[in-house]
Amino acid sequence: MVDLKELQDKAKEVISRDDVRRLIGWQRGTYGFESAPIVVTDASDADKLIFDPTCVQNPASFITLEEKRPVPRGQEPDTRKVAVMVKGCDSRAIVQQLVEKAYPRENVIVMGMPCRGVIDRRKAAALFGDVTPDEVKLDGDKVVVSLNSETKELARGDILADKCMRCRYPNPLVSDELMTEEVEKWGADEFADVDEFEKMSPADKWKFWEEQFSKCIRCYSCRNVCPMCYCVECVVAKLKPQWTRRSTDISENAAYHVQRAWHLSGRCIECMECQRVCPVDIPIMTLNRKMTRDVKEMFDYEPGVDVEAEPLLACYNPQDPEDYIM
Ligand code: SF4
Ligand code: SF4
Ligand code: SF4
Repeated sequence: MVDLKELQDKAKEVISRDDVRRLIGWQRGTYGFESAPIVVTDASDADKLIFDPTCVQNPASFITLEEKRPVPRGQEPDTRKVAVMVKGCDSRAIVQQLVEKAYPRENVIVMGMPCRGVIDRRKAAALFGDVTPDEVKLDGDKVVVSLNSETKELARGDILADKCMRCRYPNPLVSDELMTEEVEKWGADEFADVDEFEKMSPADKWKFWEEQFSKCIRCYSCRNVCPMCYCVECVVAKLKPQWTRRSTDISENAAYHVQRAWHLSGRCIECMECQRVCPVDIPIMTLNRKMTRDVKEMFDYEPGVDVEAEPLLACYNPQDPEDYIM
C-alpha cells in the first residue's frame, strides 16, 4: 500500500526542481467514486495528491496535450519536464507514445504506481447510488468502502473495473521510480468477452452495433480522453475534405467508430477510458478488444509494452498474413 505522506513528499521534491514544470496525478474527487485529475505546479499543492482505488483516470492522456500544444508566436517553447503518476495500464500509453515518438523520453518523469485495481463507477452507483464515499481501500481480496460512518466489504469483482479483474500489467512498464513495491500479477486475459461477441452471426452483430451506434451523440468524449488519440487535427474534425459529416445518423456514427477502431489498431493500450466516459454506455471496447486480439494473433504484436518496438504499421515481415489483399 502506498504511503501517502511519502508520495506527497516525493511529489514536492519533483515539482520543486527547476527543470520540472508540472506534475499530473489524482486528487480527491467531489462526486461519486472517482478521483479528479490534478495538475500540480506549486509544491504547496502536492499535499492534495492521493492514490487509492478511485484513481481511475489515465493521466498519460494529459502529456500529449501538453507536448503537442502549439507554441504562441513570439514565445519560446517551455522545455521543462512534465512529471506524471501512472498505474500499470496508464504506463502502457506512455510506452506507446514513446514508440510513436510523440515526445522524447527525457521530457517526462514517470512516477510508477503499482496498482491492484480501480473502481467501476457504474458498478459502484448500482450498489450505493449517487453518493460520494468517505474512503475506499483495498484490503487483501476485499474492497472496503466507508460511507456515512458505515463500512462495507465487497469482493473485488463486485466493484472493480472489469479490466482490473483480467489485468496483465499491474506494475508500470516504464517509470523513473516506483512509489511503492511491485504487486503480484493475479489475472489472465483470455479475451472471453471477444469470444462471446464472436459467437454472434454477422446479422446479429450488425443489429447490435446499429443499436449501439444509433445511441451515440458524437460528443467525442471517447476520443478526447484517449491517450492514443493525440493527432493535432483529428480526421473527424476536417472540413476539406470532410471525411465524416457532423450529423449523428447511423451511417456517420458507424463511420466514426469504425474509423476510430482502425486508427487505434495496434495502438490501443486497453486503458478503457473511452468506454468509461461514454455518457450513453456504448461498449466501445468490444471493437477495440477485437482489434487488439486480431493484431496479437495475426502479427504477434502488443502495443504499449516495449519502448524499443516499432509501431505496428511501420513494421513489415514477409511472413505477415496477406490473404485479405485482393
Ligand atoms: S488494469 Fe491493472 S493497472 Fe490498470 S487500474 Fe486495473 S489493476 Fe490497475
Ligand atoms: S463518448 Fe459515447 S456518445 Fe460520445 S462520441 Fe464516444 S461513443 Fe459517442
Ligand atoms: S481506445 Fe480506449 S482503451 Fe484504447 S487507448 Fe484509447 S481510451 Fe484507452
